[in-house]
Amino acid sequence: MIGAIDIGGTKIAAGMVDAEGHVRASMSCPTHPDSGLEDAIQRMADMLWKTSVMTGETFSGIGIGCTGPVYPQLGTIGKVEFMPGWEGANLVQLLSTRMGASVAIENDADAAALGEWTWGSGKGIPNFILVTIGTGIGAGLVLNGELYRGTGSAHPEIGHHIIDPSGPECFCGAHGCWESLASGPALEKWAQKQHPRPQPLSARELCSLADQGDAQALTAVRHTARYFAIGLANLVTLFIPECIALGGGLMQAYPLFKDQIQSTIHESCGLVPHDKVRVVPAALGADSGLVGAACVWLKRFALS
Ligand SMILES: [Zn+2]
Repeated sequence: MIGAIDIGGTKIAAGMVDAEGHVRASMSCPTHPDSGLEDAIQRMADMLWKTSVMTGETFSGIGIGCTGPVYPQLGTIGKVEFMPGWEGANLVQLLSTRMGASVAIENDADAAALGEWTWGSGKGIPNFILVTIGTGIGAGLVLNGELYRGTGSAHPEIGHHIIDPSGPECFCGAHGCWESLASGPALEKWAQKQHPRPQPLSARELCSLADQGDAQALTAVRHTARYFAIGLANLVTLFIPECIALGGGLMQAYPLFKDQIQSTIHESCGLVPHDKVRVVPAALGADSGLVGAACVWLKRFALS
């Protein structure tokens, strides 16, 4: 059994994952970054102990997937706007001291990619990309059988590569980056701008209406799908992986996006063997955060 922690902006999930990548017990709590890091560590420890008791088994070590920039070799986290006071904290050291177990950390998108590559749709292939689309767009790259990190172990921010420099301004400082054009909130904003409503429709509602044939919702989803597909086509041209898996809340409506993705890749990636790139829904679904976190520990301590 492996202890797993998935730290996001709104909630922290923790649980026990077995050696085949199945979540055996899990719990979650609000992140509450304002309560301070010490309080958060205590809650993580409590959830690990409780879920361990639920399975009746002890755990060999703990893996963490954490939003924002992390420094996997040092164990520290970088600057995350909505988690003030956490910057520079060594989560690995703090948790390892508290729990008396080995701990490993990665960025959450990288962790999810590792999990999906090990136990999901990327199993057994050398070049694999997981793209997660929901409130943002995250991606993790496995190249030649290794998680790809940039200089200083930095996580590449693929969700912020620029699609249209005349597009909307993003919190990252750029205009028209992928996330600002193709995420759930981007879909919601565009639909609201075209047809203002007193109560704006959520991305989930828009997808559901589009699925029922509503013309306005279909136009909005197609507009967003076009931008999403352009970003995917860029990944195909740049990396030509064997497989790109698509996860996250918005991909529950994958059939609404599928045709646009296929036609855009076909039209835009003429210089590379794009027909050899499989684009598929991710296999791990809602468990991908915890499964990925467990995989982070497994790769660092058990398989290396
Ligand atoms: Zn951005």
